Amino acid sequence: MPPFRSGIHFLQIPGPTNVPERVLRAIDRATIDHRGPGFAALTLEIQSLLRPVFGTKGPVVIYPASGTGAWEAALVNTLSPGDRVLMAETGQFAALWSALAKRLGLQVEIIAGDWRHGADPEAIEAALGADPQHAIKAVAIVHNETSTGVTSRVADVRAAIDRSGHPALFLVDTISSLASIDYRHDEWGVDVTVGGSQKGLMLPPGLAFNAVSERALAASKHARLPRAYWAWDEMLAANRDGFFPYTPATNLLYGLLEALHMLHEETLPAVFARHARHAEAARRAVGGWGLEILAVDPREYSNTLTAILVPEGIDADRLRGLILEHFDLSLGTGLGKVKGRVFRIGHLGSFNDLMLAGTLCGVQMGLDLAGVTHGDGVGAALAYLAAPSASPVLAAV
Ligand SMILES: *Cc1c(COP(=O)(O)O)cnc(C)c1O
Repeated sequence: MPPFRSGIHFLQIPGPTNVPERVLRAIDRATIDHRGPGFAALTLEIQSLLRPVFGTKGPVVIYPASGTGAWEAALVNTLSPGDRVLMAETGQFAALWSALAKRLGLQVEIIAGDWRHGADPEAIEAALGADPQHAIKAVAIVHNETSTGVTSRVADVRAAIDRSGHPALFLVDTISSLASIDYRHDEWGVDVTVGGSQKGLMLPPGLAFNAVSERALAASKHARLPRAYWAWDEMLAANRDGFFPYTPATNLLYGLLEALHMLHEETLPAVFARHARHAEAARRAVGGWGLEILAVDPREYSNTLTAILVPEGIDADRLRGLILEHFDLSLGTGLGKVKGRVFRIGHLGSFNDLMLAGTLCGVQMGLDLAGVTHGDGVGAALAYLAAPSASPVLAAV
């Protein structure tokens, strides 16, 4: 048996995130008949509140699945066996998506990366420019690379695709940015946006999303990769009347409706500003500690998580272990190439100043325990959070 832990566990990994009480209470209701009359109203209200979160007026498919399912759905609905897909290796999640694409029989062309930068618009433009026959059928990138804390500039990638005059579809994974960082499916000409429930949407794991453009829908009529569970056509046909072709995750949908009400009560611009402010405070803490973050380009700093490099000779996972053991705080591990070299602080979803302050205190005490020489990062973060210019409350009065 693990030791008894008093008080609240700090779940500061970059997803799953802390599920707010309002969402937990909403889920805690009797499951209803998903073919009965009450269900359609639930689906239709969710649809109308969910679309603005993606920045789309078009359909958003909701699967009972983890985010990985929505990755697969985006590919199998739009592509055919042997199609070429251009992907940017921004980190572990981009690498996993490209591995999944290969397993499906797609030819993946990877633009290599150093895991410290986002998808490079110029490199994408060059790769598309070198394909005058238009053999590349899709460009697929991760908006916010959860393994590195780097946010790709989706609008700039869109502009690069447009400059090349290439007709490839544009697929974007927003699993760790949706409902946290500004995102505009329609305006940025994204064809399929992939989302998941357990990060910015403040829900438990178990729902996954595809926002679908008209071009993507048209491509799905001719795409020949086999698909059944993930097929958009049956889903969209049933959704029109508020139903699903198979049993949906009813209780997670109750939670989704409540989470959407919360996001719209706060308003999306305020949600994005809150995430930006907490991310800035976290980076000031890292600076105060005298440590370095993985992201190098300030235009690409993530507002949902910060990946921090530990000094040479320190094992980031040992540090995380000490912090969990002593302070009941879970931090994100280094994934793939950066295992042991970084730890990640998630500051997304249902979150506020004192949760961030507590998290940063836990890290700073952990640095002491691990014998890492450091400055007062907590002080730097608190000074920022308390400054009138950075306070949303003081700015409003
Ligand atoms: C969490 C995450 C995923 C994986 O989602 P699962 O729900 O674990 O399948 C994919 N991409 C990104 C960017 C993520 O952050």
